[in-house]
Amino acid sequence: MQKGKINVQTENIFPIIKKFLYSDHEIFLRELISNAVDATQKLKALASAGKFSGDMDDLTIEVRLDKKKKTLSVIDQGIGMNAEEMDKYINQIAFSSAEEFIKKFKNKAEEANQLIGHFGLGFYSTFMVSDKVIIQSKTYKKGGETKAVRWECDGSPEYTMDESDKKERGTEVTLHIADDSKEFLEEDRILHLLKKYCKFLPIPIRFGDEKYWEPVEGEKDEHGHDKQIEKSRPRIINNINPAWKRKPVELKDEDYKAFYRELYPMNFEDPLFHIHLNVDYPFNLTGILYFPKVKRQMELQKDKIQLYCNQVFVTDSVEGIVPDFLTLLHGVLDSPDIPLNVSRSYLQSDPNVKKISGHITKKVADKLESLFKENREAFEKKWDDIKVFIEYGIISENSFFDRAKKFCLLKNEAGKFFTLDEYEKHINATQKDKDKNLVYLYTTNPDEQHSYIDAVKEKGYDVLLMDGVIDAHFVNALEQKLEKTRFVRVDADIPDKMINKEEVQTQKPDENQQKMLRELMEKVVEKEKFSISLENLSEKDFPLVITKPEFMRRWKEMSALQGGPGFGDLPEYNNLVVNTNHPVIRRLLLETDETRQQEIIRNLLDLALLSQQMLKGKDLTDFTRRMVDRMSQA
Ligand code: ADP
Repeated sequence: MQKGKINVQTENIFPIIKKFLYSDHEIFLRELISNAVDATQKLKALASAGKFSGDMDDLTIEVRLDKKKKTLSVIDQGIGMNAEEMDKYINQIAFSSAEEFIKKFKNKAEEANQLIGHFGLGFYSTFMVSDKVIIQSKTYKKGGETKAVRWECDGSPEYTMDESDKKERGTEVTLHIADDSKEFLEEDRILHLLKKYCKFLPIPIRFGDEKYWEPVEGEKDEHGHDKQIEKSRPRIINNINPAWKRKPVELKDEDYKAFYRELYPMNFEDPLFHIHLNVDYPFNLTGILYFPKVKRQMELQKDKIQLYCNQVFVTDSVEGIVPDFLTLLHGVLDSPDIPLNVSRSYLQSDPNVKKISGHITKKVADKLESLFKENREAFEKKWDDIKVFIEYGIISENSFFDRAKKFCLLKNEAGKFFTLDEYEKHINATQKDKDKNLVYLYTTNPDEQHSYIDAVKEKGYDVLLMDGVIDAHFVNALEQKLEKTRFVRVDADIPDKMINKEEVQTQKPDENQQKMLRELMEKVVEKEKFSISLENLSEKDFPLVITKPEFMRRWKEMSALQGGPGFGDLPEYNNLVVNTNHPVIRRLLLETDETRQQEIIRNLLDLALLSQQMLKGKDLTDFTRRMVDRMSQA
């Protein structure tokens, strides 16, 4: 028997390992199984190089739980280690890299906890959950030093190494689970972890058995159905050949959908379409991204993309790895070139990550562009479901906008679609303001803004539908990106003032009349809520119109969306336009009874408030009463 002390240079790192991460102790299982998979794949590689010719029929890795003995074991049939290798790999290399890792982060536990997937601790992460760890291993090699070895360490720097009676090739690591980590003796917990980290590993992994029912031929039960008997078979927890690792030509649309269901068993909606990524130069990246079908935009969830490293699950938070707007997509990304032992804040500056993120953005844009070009009609049908991704991309990624210009659509209130160029042409001749800016009129709610849409259409203008959750931001982004362009909601101003037609030449009230009208208005209208102006509009326009200045309203909406304080808290301050050309207003000026005048204004104001959904509560009840009273009088 060999006794030894692991070459500790600084201090005993075991207690530190144990307390190291506050969360994610569970990663020890991923580390162990990754090692088992590596050892098995090395054996396969040796076999295909003709350097190994032993039995390889079944290379299943087994995870075994023994609640009574309080042990959890991972057993592989890979290349194994002899005594010399065990000493080199476990006592020296693995230990020094764990030690180095701990040294690096000892005083920066916070940072260590933010590491993507906590890579770097390796085999020694087992001491986060164990009192004692035993490795038994037998090398695949023949001749020379081939005796099986047993290594044991109880979490102090002392270990023992001895001969083992292990007969089979491969490595068996047994953890004696510590009392404070008992959760790892629960079958459900382990099964959950295996499903999380190992679902797509390339070597079969067995965890216990599963029961299933099988019909017995020729026998019937008392109900006359085929008799079924319960049987049991090894429970394999992984799919060793996941869709993203296969060649796109081998896969049909149905296969992609089936894989989507495998990834998200609880998601009952099929995805809209997918993008299969497959790059090996200048970085290695595979994966499948799906555009999910979102019924309501509010349901959008980030962090549905799973990140893998050589089929080992790393994290489902890809923030910092893909551009923000793509975190709304679903699917998997697999790349050994994403550095996993750096903290998230470093990621964005990593050149590989930048390249990968740029590549994904480009692929997504390519796919959208080809869908648009191949079948515009089908693309338009999908538009309502995909617009939020595209709009978000345009808002947040300059490089994406350059590509998206070709397929980003605008939909008008009549349901017709235009590309950005097409729409510009559509309104170019008719919708300009006095500074020669193109004016894009839009509605955020065709029902609520009906009277305003009507008024605008009456003048022959076109109205866009902008009723998405992020449209306030989108409109803002387009204004910055498109030259000489202004977006105004239909109720932001009087149509003729927005588009700036020549003023209607009619007789304006004289100065005295204007003064009187203003004074009258001020008696009825709450001054702190409205800025009153007199305009000579068309007789067909309403006598009083409330408009909501575009910028104030939009900023309020945008900050409300972000949930932060700011413009959202400002009180509303709207314009109240008196159409001095309207017959009712002209008549009002001739009226001599002031009570009657005030009554008329009150009613006109309430009507204007009504068409902005601003008449509520007691005011609305009072208005209704007054109307009913008046009708009873007549
Ligand atoms: P890493 O896997 O990152 O190299 P580890 O600390 O997890 O670091 O493991 C150190 C080394 O120990 C491995 O590189 C490998 O050579 C050896 N090793 C660990 N587990 C096994 C195993 N199951 N079979 C064979 N060799 C193993």
